[in-house]
Amino acid sequence: MAFEGLADRLQGTIKKITGKGKVSEQDVKEMTREVRLALLEADVNFKVVKQLIARIKERAVGQEVMESLTPGQQVIKVVKDELTNLMGGEQSKIAVADRPPTVIMMVGLQGAGKTTTTGKLANHLRKKHNRNPLLVACDVYRPAAIKQLETLGTQLDMPVFSLGIEANPVDIANQAIAKAKEDHNDYVIIDTAGRLHVDENLMEELQQIKTDVKPDEIFLVVDSMTGQDAVNVAESFNEQLDITGVVLTKLDGDTRGGAALSIKAVTDKPIKFAGMGEKLDQLEAFHPERMASRILG
Ligand code: GDP
Repeated sequence: MAFEGLADRLQGTIKKITGKGKVSEQDVKEMTREVRLALLEADVNFKVVKQLIARIKERAVGQEVMESLTPGQQVIKVVKDELTNLMGGEQSKIAVADRPPTVIMMVGLQGAGKTTTTGKLANHLRKKHNRNPLLVACDVYRPAAIKQLETLGTQLDMPVFSLGIEANPVDIANQAIAKAKEDHNDYVIIDTAGRLHVDENLMEELQQIKTDVKPDEIFLVVDSMTGQDAVNVAESFNEQLDITGVVLTKLDGDTRGGAALSIKAVTDKPIKFAGMGEKLDQLEAFHPERMASRILG
């Protein structure tokens, strides 16, 4: 499970301080030192760690007094608040267009889980929000990708729009939106092409689709198992496309959690969902506070 190492270490650190009736500056110093090491070991970006620790120190030393908590508990609350803020604070909702359909463009590197997440998101929109999405196959470079989306559509009993591999992705996206209007689909989820690495051709194509289609959301799908690489990928995609949110996949694996904890701080874009397995119902809305609680025990 994700964050196991980090959770173990932080919970150990917390135990030492929770019961304290008095917390000295030295205690805070020791605690933040341990938190810092635990975060670095979990592969959290070092700049992010530095800022976080500075904020924790500032608040923990000059902390506001809450009568219901012991000083030790108050320090822990500061750590939890700051971890929550780091991951985005409030849960971030999905956009709804003034006039349907709401268009969501899914982008990301090959293997990150983009196509699977397209299916999961469609399933989530139907189950939790009673929506009726159209899935769109814009990865014209890999016939297998179109097939994969069509298979997901069959499993979900949802329509998939595709024009095969001969058509231009921008045309496919435009025609799909026209079709969604005709058929009263209130969401259009566009599965775009991926590559093994960030490259110029891919970005150009994605920018063209973005300019033409004007999506309400651009979700970057990143594999949380890739650690700092995931953070770098998010930075590049955000620079080129000004994404609106991130979906972190494979949080069910034994990722150290660095990506989950750094991406919001580095890109200033919220993590909207977390992939928790390969199955179509294994997508969860990302709640920063719940995640912080999970980590801190
Ligand atoms: P794409 O190339 O980005 O479209 O990636 P795919 O959707 O084909 O996914 C690549 C692999 O990752 C597949 O084997 C998926 O089943 C798997 N995968 C996707 N999301 C998750 C997740 O949240 N957890 C796990 N364990 N596997 C996932």
